[in-house]
Amino acid sequence: MALTGLEIFKLLPNKNCGECDVPTCLAFAMKLAGKIAESQACPYISDEAMEILGAAQTPPIKKITFKNGEKEISIGAETVMFRHEKTFVNQTLIALEIADNLSAEEFENELKRIESYKYERVGERLEPECISLKNVSDDKNNYLLKLETIQSKTEKIIILSDCNSEIIKEAMQLVDSKRIIFNRVQNLEETLKIVSDTQIPIVIQAKNIEELFEKVTKCESQNFKNIILSIDFNNLNELLENNVYLRR
Ligand code: SF4
Repeated sequence: MALTGLEIFKLLPNKNCGECDVPTCLAFAMKLAGKIAESQACPYISDEAMEILGAAQTPPIKKITFKNGEKEISIGAETVMFRHEKTFVNQTLIALEIADNLSAEEFENELKRIESYKYERVGERLEPECISLKNVSDDKNNYLLKLETIQSKTEKIIILSDCNSEIIKEAMQLVDSKRIIFNRVQNLEETLKIVSDTQIPIVIQAKNIEELFEKVTKCESQNFKNIILSIDFNNLNELLENNVYLRR
């Protein structure tokens, strides 16, 4: 949780030496509270105080970074619940989904449509940053073939949806780990074992908050932190409610 200037001041050495480029520890504490200075600028802060300051400065929502061609795209790292309180640091990513059971021709046409899709939001031209490949066929070879097609035709982030562990293992050999997300995995325990070294993000989907809590606890017990939380919804109202609930 963020600390106030006064709380930070109590952790500082109170030498008022000016080596942090401000004349007093109190002024430095205020800069730290306003997030316009780094605690490392003071060479005299104790390890214990540094630990407390570090924890307070870490955003409550973890940052996850992806590669989209040459571009880096991040999600998370938010510090406020609503945009009007301060700002959201990273824009919400938009994905369009494509099923793997389309014929080769239909699949390529759909992919072209997704690649060229643009939309406008208050004067800004935007495009989806991600494509979700939904495993409908449950045929590993077919799924991987479609995955290769996406990889060769677009630089978007790829969300692999509804996959079993066999597909996940092989998909990891095909696509750069900085470019994928696993979504609605068929077996969470097995997937965690497969992806834990790479920390490829997993969307943890659940019917309700209790089920979500159980699944997240499982991930945390294996020191897996790159998780994106999601609760099922029936309409946009429920989606909004769930997202506010999750953020809280
Ligand atoms: S360098 Fe540290 S001790 Fe010196 S004024 Fe800045 S905060 Fe205080």
